[in-house]
Amino acid sequence: MKKIAVLGATGSIGASALAVIARHPDRFRASVLAAHRKVDELVALCARFRPDLAVIADAALETALRDQLAAAGLPTRAAAGMQALNQAASGELCDTVVGAIVGAAGLESTLAAARAGKRLLLANKESVVMAGALLLDAVRAGGGELIPVDSEHNAIFQCLPHPPRAVDVERLPGGRPDLVEAGVRRILLTASGGPFRGQGRADLAAVTPAQACAHPKWNMGRKISVDSATLMNKGLEVIEAHWLFGATPAQIEVVVHPQSLVHSLVEYADGSVLAQLGNPDMRTALAHALAWPRRIEAGVAALDLVQSGALQFEAPDRDTFRCLDLAYRALAAGGTAPTVLNAANEVAVAAFLKGSLPFLAIAELIEATLDAISAEPVGGIEHLIHVDLTARRMAQRKMRQGFC
Ligand code: NAD
Ligand code: MG
Repeated sequence: MKKIAVLGATGSIGASALAVIARHPDRFRASVLAAHRKVDELVALCARFRPDLAVIADAALETALRDQLAAAGLPTRAAAGMQALNQAASGELCDTVVGAIVGAAGLESTLAAARAGKRLLLANKESVVMAGALLLDAVRAGGGELIPVDSEHNAIFQCLPHPPRAVDVERLPGGRPDLVEAGVRRILLTASGGPFRGQGRADLAAVTPAQACAHPKWNMGRKISVDSATLMNKGLEVIEAHWLFGATPAQIEVVVHPQSLVHSLVEYADGSVLAQLGNPDMRTALAHALAWPRRIEAGVAALDLVQSGALQFEAPDRDTFRCLDLAYRALAAGGTAPTVLNAANEVAVAAFLKGSLPFLAIAELIEATLDAISAEPVGGIEHLIHVDLTARRMAQRKMRQGFC
């Protein structure tokens, strides 16, 4: 019986993880559930899954959580604050951690789980983007495993050679020659193209948050939905693939595939291209990561290739969706540049969702922030947290100054 901590239990990935856990009560138990502020939803999940511990990240809500758990007659213990979250991720109550918090807020708990040698099922791509090298060091030091949950990276993981092994931190980041030795020529990351695929800049000047969040294929949280609409999601995923698989930027290519059935591909030296296909449903990646190296039922409908019809592939429109190249630029600059990119993107997306920044200005704000802060070698986690904060302040200041 595996004891699972679901960090970000009230979110979209959290729901997919809990759906798979619920299907397999003989294998998995949700022993820790954590959320940001939604006490009611967290308590409802506790009533259903009966974890040992519930953590609310906003420390001001500790009493509310404790009172509601008691009122519901639940035995679940309550804890609050980031410290409690990190302790839950690294403590004895779990052996597996689903990292499903959105944004930089997930960094510390992800690192804590890695250092503690947990099996880390990582959806929180922002922590890889911000701190890829430190995260891999932490996984190595902790002696645990990192299994990607992001659907593309989970697909690549499934298509890479040398199974059955988790993302092999021993090979990274000096592992690039190993990719070549293994005969891997390229990693092909698929992108749906988002809700605005095929549109030009003029069409996008006045798009609303509701339009940006109406993803044609995936039902996701609002931040990643906007990232999908700008193609920053794919940019973050390029950086994620660099760290997780030791691929150079030149070895990673983005291909738009609007049907979202091919989740990514690996091309080999002999011309073979292996792909992982499936319906666009995150329960597949979560079931794969939870049970790996075994295979279990995920509750996902069988893929009907005849029904799904033609599969299309096209090049991304890099002039309209400039965020993709900004991510490649940050990856090439290295050091702290991806942390700056991520921080500026989080500020820009939050402002867009509030209605205070136009869609096309998201890329401009990120670019202006990257221009203003030069990349430095990464010192350590404190350094990265400082850079993250500096970049957020810079992006806020640029926004106030009307940078564009
Ligand atoms: P979501 O907005 O639906 O859920 C986010 C979760 O994070 C919530 O449970 C929320 O309570 C928690 N959270 C937010 N801020 C927090 C904080 N400061 N402290 C603690 N918890 C906090 O987001 P999502 O769509 O589930 O995405 C989660 C992560 O998974 C993101 O990094 C996203 O990029 C990645 N991801 C999501 C999908 C998807 O299909 N939704 C696919 C691939 C990767
Ligand atoms: Mg993805």
